[in-house]
Formats: sequence, C-alpha cells, structure tokens
Amino acid sequence: MTKASAPITQDVATIPRKLPEGGKTNLVGLTRDGLTDALRAIGTPEKQLRMRVNQVWQWIYQWGVRDFDTMTNLSKSYRAELAEAFVIEVPEVVKRELSTDGTRKYLVRIAGGHEVETVYIPEEDRGTLCISSQVGCTLTCSFCHTGTQKLVRNLTAGEIVGQIMLARDDLEEWPEPGQGSDANGPRLLSNVVLMGMGEPLYNFDAVRDAMKITMDGEGISLSRRRITLSTSGVVPEIARCAEEIGCLMAVSFHATTDEVRNTLVPINRKWNIDALLAALKAYPKLSNSERITFEYVMLDGVNDSDEDARRLVKLISGIPAKINLIPFNEWPGAPYQRSSWQRIEAFADIVYKAGYASPIRTPRGEDIMAACGQLKSDTERERKSRAQIASEAGL
Ligand code: SAH
Ligand code: SF4
Repeated sequence: MTKASAPITQDVATIPRKLPEGGKTNLVGLTRDGLTDALRAIGTPEKQLRMRVNQVWQWIYQWGVRDFDTMTNLSKSYRAELAEAFVIEVPEVVKRELSTDGTRKYLVRIAGGHEVETVYIPEEDRGTLCISSQVGCTLTCSFCHTGTQKLVRNLTAGEIVGQIMLARDDLEEWPEPGQGSDANGPRLLSNVVLMGMGEPLYNFDAVRDAMKITMDGEGISLSRRRITLSTSGVVPEIARCAEEIGCLMAVSFHATTDEVRNTLVPINRKWNIDALLAALKAYPKLSNSERITFEYVMLDGVNDSDEDARRLVKLISGIPAKINLIPFNEWPGAPYQRSSWQRIEAFADIVYKAGYASPIRTPRGEDIMAACGQLKSDTERERKSRAQIASEAGL
C-alpha cells in the first residue's frame, strides 16, 4: 500500500480546542450546534439559547467583532460571563507581502507555532482567497512544492475559517455593526478556493464545519457557488463533499493515462482515472452544482501533447466541465519545466474546439512566491526525503 492510501484523517491529531493560556475556549470554528453547547455550558437559560447564539454569531461572523464588550445587545453581566469562559481568536498574520499585481500573501501562524499561507487574488469581477487546510501534505505529487513538505497537522475549523476572517480584517471589509452582510457593496473577498496547502478531503470534518460557517447567511454569507474545493482525487470523499458541503469541485487531473498520472499524482495508484471520473460524473447531480473544474498543470514533454489534449476531452465527455490549464510554476529543485506558451495555446485550442472552456491560469503573485504549488517555499521546515518522493511518485 502506498503512503497516499493510508487513512490519514484518523492518523492526524487536530489540536484540542481549549487554548493553553487560561483554558478559555475559542468560539471561532464552532458550528451553530457547537456554539449552542458552549453557551449552554456557561449557564445560558435554555429559553434564551437560540437568541443568544444568533446574537453572538452575528457579532463574530457578520461584523467581525473580537471583543465581547462590543456586543452591545447583550447585558454587561452576560458579556462578562462570556469573556470569562471564551475568546474570539483568529490565527496571527506574521508577515504580509504585496505583489506588484495586487496579490497579497499572508504568512499565518497557528497554534503550536506552525505556519501556513493564505493568498488573496484580486481580479476585475471578483476577489479570491486561496486558503490552506493542512500544514504540509501527506501526498507527494511530484510537481508540487507542498508535496515535498511532511504533513505536520490538520488545521482546525477555526484556523480554516480564521484565514477568511483575517483577510477580511486586512481588506477592512467587515460591515459596521447593525449593517447587513453586503452593506459595503461588491465584496473584495467574494470567492474562496481550497487550493492552498494540503488535501482538503483528508481533513474533511474541519473543512466542512469551516465552510458551513462561511456559507451561513447570518455571517460571512458566501454562497456555496463561490466556494471551490480542489482535490487530488480522494474518491470516497467526493460524494460526501457534495452531500455535506455542496460547494463547487475542482480536481487536480493533470494526466490522461494512469501511467503518467501515477507519477504526477501518486494517489492515482489507489483510485485511478476511471474511479475518479465515475465519482466526478455523479457530483453535479448530487450537489446540484454546475461544472467540475479540471485542473491541468502544463509540464513540458510530460503531459502536454496534442494527443493528451484529445485524450482528455474524450475522457471527460459527458461531464459538464471547464478545463483550467495551469502553466507549471517552477520552484528550486523542481524536476519539471513549464510548457512553452505555444504548446499551452495549442493544447487549449484542441480542448476549446471540443466545446470546453479552457482558460489558461495566469500565474499570480510570482514575485512573492504566491503562485500555485509555490507556497511555504521560503518558510518550510520539515521536508520529505528525495528518496521518499521519488519512490512514492514511481520516478
Ligand atoms: N491538494 C489539493 C489542493 C491544493 S493544490 C489538490 O491537489 O488539488 C492546488 C492546485 O495547484 C492543484 O491543482 C495542484 O495540482 C496545483 N499545483 C501544485 N503545484 C503546482 C505547481 N508547481 N505549478 C502549478 N500548479 C501546481
Ligand atoms: Fe498535496 Fe495537492 Fe500538492 Fe498533491 S498537489 S502534494 S495533494 S497539496
């Protein structure tokens, strides 16, 4: 059995929610049910519970408040009780870098002193936040820099939704208390992609809880159609994602034969292209969503031939899809090179003529190493050995 196929969710300890200092519970990341339990535990009368949960929820997620004293629709004594038992904390931004193209990269410190990266990408009609779900990754995709870093731990739901909250802090886009979620006009942070570090479907529960909080209409209130989860192909969790989260799905496809996909995305040895396509075919109906995004990294001489393009459109026929071609982002020591623009365009043309949208993803924030697969390059600590990567990728 390859390492990629191990039941990783069970292996990885998520840190306890109790904060070490003072033993106060962090309310960020609790679902509505969790918040209800927490407020019940401090003696909130059963009759008031629903209303108190709504009030506290709105302060935290609609108006971005971190201090109980600001919650003016609660009595002074209740605010004091809340402050006695709880904190409202998001991860700390230890470094913020701004690219010449407007991309912002945040280096975010989470409990235990670990660091992950979150990237904000402004575009004309939207602003997308790319968030991380794990510190490192258990998988070893051979073209991905995160794949060279060992998994340190899963992020908690609070650390996942906390990345959205800290970006909204930085963008100064929380509505004034009392105002509605869209009071500030078009959102600066309008979309979320789970495409940062880690495999989100190997941290399913925390990702689900964080996204439920993000979608809740009385808080951050992002529609499920504005959230895209990218997976390398954890087949058994794909249907669950449709049923329990319902967001859009992207898949790191990257190859058109099992032979090549085994080397690029080693999880393919556990769930091959056929198994993956079967799960993806069922997704739109299960989640009542539209197209699946197929991500396809363009690697010179590896997966970028006309024949590959033709095979790709044949494989995905019958699946409502968009194909996102990603020029390979190089990192020090990477075993691949980016395909030429000419090659990428020729590939895109074949896909387009077969009736699929085939946008070429413009690399963003390259000057600050914020592009896909480059995250954590200058801060990482623990690395997988070359031998481990090579053997797991079958190189
Ligand atoms: N683990 C998930 C999500 C994170 S990776 C997944 O694999 O889907 C987000 C996207 O960036 C994936 O499609 C991944 O294959 C791609 N990617 C990783 N390294 C890259 C690189 N060096 N250049 C371009 N794209 C890369
Ligand atoms: Fe992990 Fe995704 Fe990188 Fe593969 S591409 S190593 S699954 S982060």
